[in-house]
Parts: sequence; structure tokens; C-alpha cells
Amino acid sequence: MRRVLYPGSFDPMTKGHMNIVSQASELFDEVIIAVMRNRSKKEPFFSFEERLELIQKLYEHIDKVKVIMGSGAAVDLAILHQCSAIVRGLRGLSDYDYEVQLRQFNKDFSDDAMNSVFFVADKDYQFISSTGVKEAFFLDKSIDKYVEPVVRDAMIEKKRLLR
Ligand code: ADP
Repeated sequence: MRRVLYPGSFDPMTKGHMNIVSQASELFDEVIIAVMRNRSKKEPFFSFEERLELIQKLYEHIDKVKVIMGSGAAVDLAILHQCSAIVRGLRGLSDYDYEVQLRQFNKDFSDDAMNSVFFVADKDYQFISSTGVKEAFFLDKSIDKYVEPVVRDAMIEKKRLLR
């Protein structure tokens, strides 16, 4: 059984993230999406629990995809869940430096046991970022091209509650 871990903050999960999940699930038996509590990032839009719940909704009918919460180092989670590798996505060169650095950290922290695999976003998804989606949303622009309706509706509800 080839299982991989896809860690991220997913605030919120976009169609770009989902494109990476679908590419990974074509090549591996199981993809575990790990919603990470990311201490280095500022206040998220959705709480940890809300992000988890939303992603669970998106994948509730897909057996190959599991969703878990994670804190600490993604590499420890990958080892704990007996994953063959960590999955990350690349939109373009702007992601490259950071992702290569992260891969090396993960190798170092696992004594070279945990490698990473990278999937390149398909052309329709290369310019989507969670930050961009939030900016468009707060400018009252349509985000339907970038997120699933369930995510858009949750964002509308969250904004209403924040008022
Ligand atoms: P982070 O883990 O850095 O907090 P995210 O949760 O936004 O970042 O993203 C998780 C992973 O998905 C990262 O590897 C990121 O490069 C990748 N990713 C984000 N958006 C896209 C996209 N539109 N297409 C492909 N990969 C993406």
C-alpha cells in the first residue's frame, strides 16, 4: 500500500490544492491530507477545526482520500502514518525555492527516510492561491473559478459571523 501525506494550511482549500490531491491519488493508493496548525503564519481566516471540517466535506465520498489534523512537523506525521512520501504542489518557480528547502528539512529530520514528491499544478490552477482567493472574496469578487461551492458558502457564512 503506497500512502502519501499532503500537508498544508489549506486556508481555504482551493481547486489548486484539489488538483494536486487528484494527481497524487492517480499514482498512490491513499492520500492523507493533513491540515496543519501552522504557527509561523498569521491569524487564519478559518480555524483549524473549520478547515478540517470543510475538507472532510469535500472528500467525504472519496475512499482514497483521508483528512487528518496535524501539529508539529509534517515529517513526524508522515512517519507515524507510514507514508512513503510527502506530497507538495508547485505552481511555478515562485514555489520552488521554499519547497526545495522544506524537502531538505524533512529529509534531515527523518535521517533521509522521508522523501517528497512534487506535482505541478495543471494550467488552470497555476495562479490560484489561498491568499488571492481571500483577497478577491473580501473585494466582493466572484471566487467560483477558484474554490468549490461548499468552500465559497462557508466563506460567506464566516464573513457574516465576523461582522
Ligand atoms: P503551506 O503548506 O505553505 O501553508 P498551502 O496550504 O497554501 O501552503 O499549500 C500546501 C501545498 O499546496 C504547497 O506545496 C503549495 O505550494 C501547494 N499549492 C497551493 N496552491 C496550489 C496551486 N494552486 N496549485 C498547486 N499547488 C498548490
